[in-house]
Amino acid sequence: MRDRQLLLARARGLEPITVALPPALATLPPASFVEMRLVYDRVGHRYQWHLVVDDRCEPPGAPGEQTLAADLGEIHPAAVANEAGDVVIFSARDLRALNQYRYKRLASLQARQSRLKRGSRRWRRLHRRKTFLLARNNRQRRDIEHKITRAITTYAKDEKARRLVVGDVRNVGKGKRLSATNQQKVSGWSHGRQIQYLTYKLAAEGITLERQNEAYSSKTCCGCGAQNKPRGRTYRCAACGLVCHRDANGAVNQESKALFGSYGHIQPRSTKYRRPFRRSSRDTGNVARSLEREAAPQ
Ligand SMILES: [Zn+2]
Repeated sequence: MRDRQLLLARARGLEPITVALPPALATLPPASFVEMRLVYDRVGHRYQWHLVVDDRCEPPGAPGEQTLAADLGEIHPAAVANEAGDVVIFSARDLRALNQYRYKRLASLQARQSRLKRGSRRWRRLHRRKTFLLARNNRQRRDIEHKITRAITTYAKDEKARRLVVGDVRNVGKGKRLSATNQQKVSGWSHGRQIQYLTYKLAAEGITLERQNEAYSSKTCCGCGAQNKPRGRTYRCAACGLVCHRDANGAVNQESKALFGSYGHIQPRSTKYRRPFRRSSRDTGNVARSLEREAAPQ
């Protein structure tokens, strides 16, 4: 950085690129400039610079002492349990609709493309549509994911949490739970990105995100410890007769493990839903219809 300008190094022998900084950034000390990334915008067909800046704002202390646990659900993006067993299920119907739409459109475009000669004019036109569809879909999905992780963070702050414990799907062996890819197909939700977004949003509130092995958390009955294979969105225990929401069962099991080291010490006391993001069905329909028009044969 020099004279309110950012100098970007290029290959040896070439002059650096100079970028004038906007007033808000020009007064920051040079050490605040952490990273510069060159990002390609596939829709706009151009490159963008993304600048990472450390604003030197110290994160506040944790709002309280409570431990919360989140189950990255198979039915909903997340269910969060507190120490008393209150469960909040963060749901996003739109995410699922977006995901289903994506698979449907892609399959149809691919089918049409496969009948054409590779690289031909019509083939390339379909290819552009595919790229456009994917890029748009990813933006919408990320937008929803940001809103959900924001809502979880706000909830954690209101609950005076010190830490949020998240089941770690990476440790789960095959057959114990749906694989991460299958979960994504069901929920349309990227667990990796969810954890990434949550980590920094929580950190800004002084709350830490911790991971723990979540093996059997969705199968184990939170009431008696028996193993059941849940079907659909309701968890029913054949041994003790307990019936609760499947994701609530997973969430209180996570909470129990985080606090006591094993499942079964906490049962769901209440289950509430939060839908932090809700586009009207009319809007979703419009998006779908406008894409249909773009994709219609000409
Ligand atoms: Zn049971």
